[in-house]
Amino acid sequence: MTATRPQPRPGVLAIDAYVPGKSSAPGVDKVFKLSSNETPLGPSPKAISAYNAIGKHLEDYPDGSASDLRDAIGRVYGLDPARIVCGAGSDDLLNLLARAYLADGDEAIHTTHGFLVYPIATLGTGATPIVAPEKAYTASVDEILTRVTPKTKMVFLANPNNPTGTYIPFDEVKRLHNGLPAHVLFVLDAAYAEYVRRNDYEAGIELVATSENVVMTRTFSKIHGLAALRLGWMYGPAHVIDAINRIRGPFNVNAPAIAAGIAAIEDAAHQERAREHNTEWLEWLTEEIAKLGLKVTPSVANFVLIHFPETKGRTAAEANAFLMKRGLILRQVGAYKLPHALRMSIGTEEANRLVVKALAEFLGKAK
Ligand SMILES: *Cc1c(COP(=O)(O)O)cnc(C)c1O
Repeated sequence: MTATRPQPRPGVLAIDAYVPGKSSAPGVDKVFKLSSNETPLGPSPKAISAYNAIGKHLEDYPDGSASDLRDAIGRVYGLDPARIVCGAGSDDLLNLLARAYLADGDEAIHTTHGFLVYPIATLGTGATPIVAPEKAYTASVDEILTRVTPKTKMVFLANPNNPTGTYIPFDEVKRLHNGLPAHVLFVLDAAYAEYVRRNDYEAGIELVATSENVVMTRTFSKIHGLAALRLGWMYGPAHVIDAINRIRGPFNVNAPAIAAGIAAIEDAAHQERAREHNTEWLEWLTEEIAKLGLKVTPSVANFVLIHFPETKGRTAAEANAFLMKRGLILRQVGAYKLPHALRMSIGTEEANRLVVKALAEFLGKAK
């Protein structure tokens, strides 16, 4: 039958559009946005200067290959810049990977509470997202591997994962890779890698360098504090980089993002400050919130997942409303199949203390 109007490709209308974290609370002047895992320290002052300098030349197209930025990333991480591609946020790269490697009838695996961009990117290509259950809010290599079929073309793994904050050790990442057929592209999303302080963790650089079917994506939106500019990068085998370079927008990364990105990645001291702040307050929040009797999933990233009881008066939705009235904006994670939890980004000292105080009041435990 002929359609009476244009029809999107199969899968598109099955997508629930991504809902970003809230940034305002009705009727509240001073808000603390703890809903999108942005850094409370802001970007490096050097990145801000570099960004401002570009404002004088907005008539010029950016360098379409982002060479200087790829060179800077290569220097910092000891990587061949030819095997790096930059994108308008890592979202851009995740979508490009899906578009290059998935088609109708294919399958892409992600985990139960995996990042929502994975099923969105998958469905947009006409492929089917396959969900692998997690164990204790953590990806399970065995559950992923048992779901691999001849139709599987891609496996997405955020390590650490958002919104759970959990990770799997590098040994497990390698075991997962070893269990995948050679034609399956393994996408390691290391958006929070800089925050992890665990000896058994690795972002995946070594694995990418030594295989033909692994890519690692990184972002400037989190520790570098450049979420507004939309900037991410990917390290991969030459043949994958080649495929992505063919389909990406010719100027997919803008000039202010390139300039700020170079300054940010070279400012190791600023990154270290952000890491220190995070380590200190992640630990403090995890302890203080647990003392209130709420479960907190152990996190290695820059946010915590807080679980609430299902009892009326104590639920996550009610806690969220209570916090919102005080200008404390956390993230509801029902879309991540976590209706009884809230995700809180590690904020400034002031914000962190206010949340703990407000939660104590909410639970009737204020001193
Ligand atoms: C925040 C985040 C990203 C980064 O997205 P950008 O498009 O680079 O801002 C990627 N993956 C995960 C799991 C994230 O939480």
